[in-house]
Amino acid sequence: MVFDLHSHSTASDGSLSPQALVDRARQQGVKQLAITDHDSVDGVLALQHSPVDIGLIAGVELSCVWGKVLIHIVGLNIDPRAEVMARGLQQQQQARQQRACVIGQKLEKLGFSGAAEGARQLAGDSQLGRPHFARFLVEQGYVASENEAFKKYLGAGKAGDVKLMWPALHTVVSWIVDAGGVAVLAHPLHYRMTATKLRALITDFRQAGGLAVEVINGRQSADKTRTLGDLARRFDLLASLGSDFHRPGAPWSELGMMGDLPRDCVPVWSAWE
Ligand code: MN
Ligand code: MN
Ligand code: MN
Repeated sequence: MVFDLHSHSTASDGSLSPQALVDRARQQGVKQLAITDHDSVDGVLALQHSPVDIGLIAGVELSCVWGKVLIHIVGLNIDPRAEVMARGLQQQQQARQQRACVIGQKLEKLGFSGAAEGARQLAGDSQLGRPHFARFLVEQGYVASENEAFKKYLGAGKAGDVKLMWPALHTVVSWIVDAGGVAVLAHPLHYRMTATKLRALITDFRQAGGLAVEVINGRQSADKTRTLGDLARRFDLLASLGSDFHRPGAPWSELGMMGDLPRDCVPVWSAWE
């Protein structure tokens, strides 16, 4: 059984439509795929009535804060139509819109007129975010590349680096639990915390009702896998794994291309199988 329990479609910042994502997953030998778009279940819902010849697990990746740190929590095997999830996702959407407004205002103040409207048009039906502002700046000739746009105006510490008012960790975990799913702490080593702080985070996450930790996220060193596997065991958490696939051509995150979970970990799918 090849599980890939972390992937993105055009419902968030992925480049493949939900159907194309499933097709590619099948080609890559994935048997069970979770679509976990940022703050959206639209990709999951889009496939609910189409014939799909691999196992699909309804998922989501929710942004939240723990203290001042932005954390991602993946929800697996949720009911994508649960009322509590719909309300939560609506709230996340509003937070994103507000943030885009503030970024737009800041860029306009810097002299980039039409930034707010331009980015909104570029986003179309997809989630409006900093990449759209970057593209706007490139297309208007203000910068040579999206990379430069992030370096000068959108990246950490720059005008467009607007911190959102995301909900607290325990709030998004409760949405997942109430929607019948399993809450997974995504990519624990991406937050660049000290080991002590990470243990405190995991303790709070467990208290909030979190059940699993992502032991494998894309292609990573055996060292990382061991560290995270140990952490899962120490805190008596289930272990998840996923590619965090966004688009073809990124060799560190191809669908289904990951190492195996350490043998002494309890896989997260034991919670619903
Ligand atoms: Mn993403
Ligand atoms: Mn993430
Ligand atoms: Mn992700």
